[in-house]
Amino acid sequence: MTNREDRGEVFKPASLHTCRANAALGTRLDFSDESCFDDARRGFIDTLPDARIETADGRAVWDLSSYAFLEALDPPDSVNPSLWRLARLNRIHGLFEVCERMYQVRGFDIANITIIEGDTGLILIDPLTVCESAAAALALYRRHRGDRPVRCVIYSHSHVDHYGGVEGVVTAAAVARGEVQVIAPEGFMEAAVSENVLAGVPMRRRAMFQFGPTLAAGPRSHVDAGLGKTMGRGTISLVEPTMLVSQPMERHVIDGVEIVFQLTPETEAPAEMNFFFPQFGVLNLAENGCHTMHNLCPLRGARTRDALAWSKYLDAALDEFIDRTDVVIAQHHWPTWGRDRARRFITEQRDLYRVMHDQCLRLMSHGLTPNEIAATFRMPASLASRWHARPYYGAIAHNLRAIYAHYMGPYDGHPASLDPLPPDEAARRTLEYMGGAPAVLERARRDFEAGDYRWVVEVGRHLVFADPGNRPARELVADAMEQLGYQSESSTWRNAYLLGAKELRFGAPRPGPGSVISRKVVSMLPMAMFFDYLAIRVNADRAEGLQLRLDWRMADEGSVHRLTLSHSALSHLPGSHGAHAMATVSTTREQLAAIVAAGEPLARAPDGGLLEIAGDASVVRRLFGTFDEFPSNFNIVEP
Ligand SMILES: [Zn+2]
Repeated sequence: MTNREDRGEVFKPASLHTCRANAALGTRLDFSDESCFDDARRGFIDTLPDARIETADGRAVWDLSSYAFLEALDPPDSVNPSLWRLARLNRIHGLFEVCERMYQVRGFDIANITIIEGDTGLILIDPLTVCESAAAALALYRRHRGDRPVRCVIYSHSHVDHYGGVEGVVTAAAVARGEVQVIAPEGFMEAAVSENVLAGVPMRRRAMFQFGPTLAAGPRSHVDAGLGKTMGRGTISLVEPTMLVSQPMERHVIDGVEIVFQLTPETEAPAEMNFFFPQFGVLNLAENGCHTMHNLCPLRGARTRDALAWSKYLDAALDEFIDRTDVVIAQHHWPTWGRDRARRFITEQRDLYRVMHDQCLRLMSHGLTPNEIAATFRMPASLASRWHARPYYGAIAHNLRAIYAHYMGPYDGHPASLDPLPPDEAARRTLEYMGGAPAVLERARRDFEAGDYRWVVEVGRHLVFADPGNRPARELVADAMEQLGYQSESSTWRNAYLLGAKELRFGAPRPGPGSVISRKVVSMLPMAMFFDYLAIRVNADRAEGLQLRLDWRMADEGSVHRLTLSHSALSHLPGSHGAHAMATVSTTREQLAAIVAAGEPLARAPDGGLLEIAGDASVVRRLFGTFDEFPSNFNIVEP
């Protein structure tokens, strides 16, 4: 280990309290049960050394060599032993046979690609996050199974790790010529392109805390991302589906393979589906049934997911398919073989989401608020002892708060929460009441020595927000977050705590330039969504008093949209303002993509030659002059 983080320059050793906490969990769980390791290795055919995948110019998009430290069976003090177990499982990689005619490549990305041999060619489910990894996975398969052509690609759902690599396995041209079918659940495109558009900037920043891409691999830093090792870094693509599944259950025969699709909207993703293969006795639960308790709201932020619907779709899958199921697979993690084991697995996954949902609602009905519910809920021991129900990606407290928010919104019901002071002012005044920062720091140090890291982080937040220049306070909070990270069973909590500690010690990465949405997304974005995206960039203060009406023509698509700026709000509708238009902007989709991808301030766009302006050009300049530029990084652990 030669990286800075493991030489102790960034992260410190585990404290005695952390060693004890991790050791105690180690005795409560059944580590002698190795069945997941057997399942994860079963059917192994071949792999690439360290699963290293490169771009054409030799840059690694994926390489597990830096995770070699996970070969050790015994966890280091700085990693929760249960998470260590999962991190070891997620390091198993290669091409695996699921059953005759069905294969998976796992560990080449955070997600799996499933490969099915049809009568004349291949059906691929979920072509990974990036093209390079998807191409490498298919090449590895072909080396062993021959050069079969791809006939069909299926996207199980609308998250990028399940479609981004599609152009690594098919070309958009072949799909356009009808040589390859692309199947997705109804609502796929809307969900796929919209997810990161409006809230993309804060989601991307917060995703750094969820996945930990700026943490180096190492026993004191990054060990896993819960669903897989980490995120791939390469070329992301998207090819539009040629067929959408729209009925609750739909049966199709594709290249001789019968598939029953079960739509599961608003579960793990807004558009998602499970699949059953009657010929093979294989049930594929997409991302609705993995070897972890999943997130009901990821740390990056998202609209909360529906735990009740999630549980009900698993129940329906169980009811409909289990009597014909010999193996259950998913698009993350490893298969579970045997009908009885599959039945137990799905039953427990169903009950996992249901019990959190129902108990949260029950406790809400007794008047408990989110943090009280998190402190009160206990997972039934019969579920808590099951490895796939452990909180590796989600976390119980976080999921309970998500269920509360799903029904009740952000307000906890207490009138004191109606109008709280902003955090820096609240911090200054709280510290003043508590006897001043030095006195609070002194007491927090004693609590740190006692191992009360949760409280140190909570109180220390005030110290840093009252005065981000308070170096000893930053160091103390970082020390406490670090120990919480070492104790976390949830990989996402670990990543968040450790990145919090790192940024308290060294500051946030400097904001760099960067386009908020990619060229690819702009090329596929419905124009209505593009204008919504422009509207969130209007700086209300700069737009004060402006009343502007302009028409926006997409010359290549033949569409016209009327934009109205009034009261600092930018609205849009299809059609023209007619004689009331103060100016008309004409452009093409390609020019629009070029403007966005250039990463230049949008205010310069009217003079960049890619927008043709008729009428009063100053109107267009005034509108574009109201647009904010967003930083790629903002502070989170300090004001
Ligand atoms: Zn996924």
